[in-house]
Amino acid sequence: MNLRKKLRVSPDFEEKSEPFEKLPVSPDFEEKSEPFEKLLDDLVICILSKLCSSSSSPSHFISALLVCKRFNQLGMNKLVLSNACSKVFDIRARNWSESAHRFLKLCVHGGSIEACYFLGMVRFYCMRDRGGGASLMAKAAIKSHAQALYSLAVIQFNGSGGAKSDRDIRAGIALSARAANFCHVGALRDLAHCLKNGYGIKQNKDKGRRLLFRASVRELSSVLRRVGSHGKIQKRHTTGGFGLGFGSDFLSLLEPNPDPASRFLVEWFKLNEGELGPGLKLCSYSGCGRPETRPYEFRRCSVCGVVNYCSRGCQTLDWKAGHKVECSPVGADQWGDMDPNLDGPDIDHNEVG
Ligand SMILES: [Zn+2]
Ligand SMILES: [Zn+2]
Repeated sequence: MNLRKKLRVSPDFEEKSEPFEKLPVSPDFEEKSEPFEKLLDDLVICILSKLCSSSSSPSHFISALLVCKRFNQLGMNKLVLSNACSKVFDIRARNWSESAHRFLKLCVHGGSIEACYFLGMVRFYCMRDRGGGASLMAKAAIKSHAQALYSLAVIQFNGSGGAKSDRDIRAGIALSARAANFCHVGALRDLAHCLKNGYGIKQNKDKGRRLLFRASVRELSSVLRRVGSHGKIQKRHTTGGFGLGFGSDFLSLLEPNPDPASRFLVEWFKLNEGELGPGLKLCSYSGCGRPETRPYEFRRCSVCGVVNYCSRGCQTLDWKAGHKVECSPVGADQWGDMDPNLDGPDIDHNEVG
């Protein structure tokens, strides 16, 4: 089913997105906006660029555009939109509408790589426009957007949007390597496991271990940054231990902090569960949101066989977030001979069927 036909228009978003269409002009509007009329265009653009690059939510930026017609017009300037940070696109799935889509398209045309990535993910996974979505992500990837590079790597590893024979492991590794250069944790892990297992690349266990260590350092520093910014730790699971070393379940202490595109996908498929398609599953990591594009696309946990992951990165995150407590070998209630120092059990690289 074409999801575009199902797009709902939230009255809330319509109200917020009014500046993109027509502004109401009140009798005292001219008087109120007069102080801004005296400002030079360059100065207004500079102020709006700064705002666009530091907004904490879409409404934060959009409310500034409501101030006057001049802000509304200059806010759509390429110089402003190209600086937009990811939080400007933190659109919730329940607020998705044609206006939101139009805003994103304007930002894409304005040169925002964050908008290219966000809209690329929405088109690829929610609207099933595989070509359009991948090309938007490629636009962001060319500009070295790490998440876009990694998302394209996941698509290549899984052959998403095509058949099993469309999987291109070498392309996945090349894209992961580029994303890993920008310290993307998921890319570092996927690349590390390819090196450790000689999957699509010459085996190099030492290099693989070094990359896993780098991923853990990066992850730990990002957790500490979040703890610093929140001022406290929120515990998610009570069943696991609380070791703070590398490879521990340190992440289980924090709520997932997915990027806006992942959060959108998670919410979208909660709201539109029926759109998944028969036999298709979501990635089992709760912060990911990627759906399978054909049955048995994702790899299963090789121990319990009941969870599926789009990538090694998601498998590791879910392991730390609680699957290590729930996972048990099929037909057994013991851990068997699993190495507790590993990030998690191997996931099958061979699909079923
Ligand atoms: Zn995933
Ligand atoms: Zn498992």
